[in-house]
Amino acid sequence: MGRAYCIHEIFVNPETRCLEQSEVLAELERYEQARDQTAADLRALKTKVASQVGQDEAAIFGVHESILYDSAFEAKVRHWIVDERQTAQSALHHILNDYTSLFARTKDDYLRDRLVDLRDVVIRLSGHLTDALHPDAETPDGPVILVADELLPSQVATLGQRQVAGIVTQAGGGTSHAAILARSRGIPAVSGVRGILKQVTNGDLVVVDGREGNVIVQPDSETESAYRKLQREFFDLKDALAENRDREAVSADGQRVELLANINSVVDAKAAAAMGADGVGLFRTEYLFLTHPSVPDEDEQRQAYCDVIAASPNHRITIRTLDLGGDKTIPYLGHSREANPFMGWRSIRLSFEHPEFFGTQIRAVLQAAATHSGGVRLMFPMITTLEEMRRVHGMVRRARTRLREAGLPAGDVAIGLMLEVPAAAISIDMLLEEVDFVSIGSNDLVQYLMAADRDNPRVNHLCQPLSPPVLRVLDRVIRTCNDGHKPVTLCGEMAGSPRSFVLLFGMGLRSFSMSPAFIPTIKDLLSQLTVKRAQTILRKVLEMKTMAKIDRYMAHQIAEIAPNLKILDTA
Ligand code: PEP
Ligand code: MG
Repeated sequence: MGRAYCIHEIFVNPETRCLEQSEVLAELERYEQARDQTAADLRALKTKVASQVGQDEAAIFGVHESILYDSAFEAKVRHWIVDERQTAQSALHHILNDYTSLFARTKDDYLRDRLVDLRDVVIRLSGHLTDALHPDAETPDGPVILVADELLPSQVATLGQRQVAGIVTQAGGGTSHAAILARSRGIPAVSGVRGILKQVTNGDLVVVDGREGNVIVQPDSETESAYRKLQREFFDLKDALAENRDREAVSADGQRVELLANINSVVDAKAAAAMGADGVGLFRTEYLFLTHPSVPDEDEQRQAYCDVIAASPNHRITIRTLDLGGDKTIPYLGHSREANPFMGWRSIRLSFEHPEFFGTQIRAVLQAAATHSGGVRLMFPMITTLEEMRRVHGMVRRARTRLREAGLPAGDVAIGLMLEVPAAAISIDMLLEEVDFVSIGSNDLVQYLMAADRDNPRVNHLCQPLSPPVLRVLDRVIRTCNDGHKPVTLCGEMAGSPRSFVLLFGMGLRSFSMSPAFIPTIKDLLSQLTVKRAQTILRKVLEMKTMAKIDRYMAHQIAEIAPNLKILDTA
């Protein structure tokens, strides 16, 4: 619960204040300063991208700089500030709106892509005019509920500067990157709430019930006190569970389970240690790139990986190579609009097309791995075919050769794939020959199996792991890996959900990777569960034909196995 703080207002909720005549010149100067700072950023970015990725990829920043100084664009800014006496932020809002409606009518892809460029430039400019997450006169005191259309990774990176009690976004689904980032900080979040920015203003009291996916704006006093009570119980339970951080993760009948953490940064690695994780099961390296002001070079990457390895529990970590595209893009890898971004040029497919850039990342990981040999594993996202896995091995071999020739160290790393594509799930027995381990990325696997975009709130009811087809596929994959004696982990969001955990444990899964905040809960649940009970529950569930039936049955089972965890259990 907290006071609403609406961010990214430039696109949805512009300032309406009219400037005094005496303020106009100063506002124009403030704009020009922001414009020159933005241009300097773009030039620095262009140089760095040119040296790290390539001239072609860097060219886009030249285009962005020319938009900044475009005479028509400048004339519009001037018009809004001088003639209409609007603030610079508000001027940008109007200009963007005008262009958006102008371009909305065009079918020309080239022009539409230019709108994306314009939006990028405006976001940068706006960042220099105000810092969205820095307190200003209108920022409420105390814990805030961030309300935004979508949350950019760079904004989430600065979340630590405010006490954020909850996050509500208009876009996205339960496994989109904003939700994952919120979860990794243990912040309740609800995504896909269409139109919320129109219903909330800064300072409104907002309740975010992440368990049920409810957002309540300006609750009446009865609702408010009911939620205050629930909030207290929730915190008390979390505190009590956190005490088990040094306890081993063992079931009631003595079965040891590996509980690993999903992390995006060194801060998360420390949180993983604080929550009693056995190691890190998924380090999403793309956040290093998404939050970097330009491009991290080989040395910066090596240092960043060394820091994360050093902070990880037991120095055990599985590093995933760049997983960009879909809902996570950076402006310098030659991205253009695609009709189906999640089925398009993303993840390993995109990395293969930038062999030099990708090779740099592999070399940086191998060098960092040399500092703690044995504990580092390297995995590749979205592998679809055996050929791709062979290509990966070729790249790792070449990276080793380059390092040896340069007299640099290269640590031993196990090589694994992320199982996220149905094609790979079907042919897992063949793929096993080419890998040391498998990690099931259930977020993507579910969206591809159900043909339901994980970011689209309208199809969220289908994008659910506890459905008969998904459970059948998971059961088969886990059994095949276990029979083939290949270590298998599941690192999608379902690993941290009590209902899913029981079923996966019943399938024979013994390694789970989840947001650090869920580790104490799962450890507690496990201590009250036996292998036999989980297997019995799984057998029953595999016979059920609908999601609704599975949900009801699992809610009941969790309440029976671990009544103390009831308020943390969600569908
Ligand atoms: C997954 O797809 O399950 C996964 C863990 O990767 P991401 O959420 O980063 O796509
Ligand atoms: Mg994935």
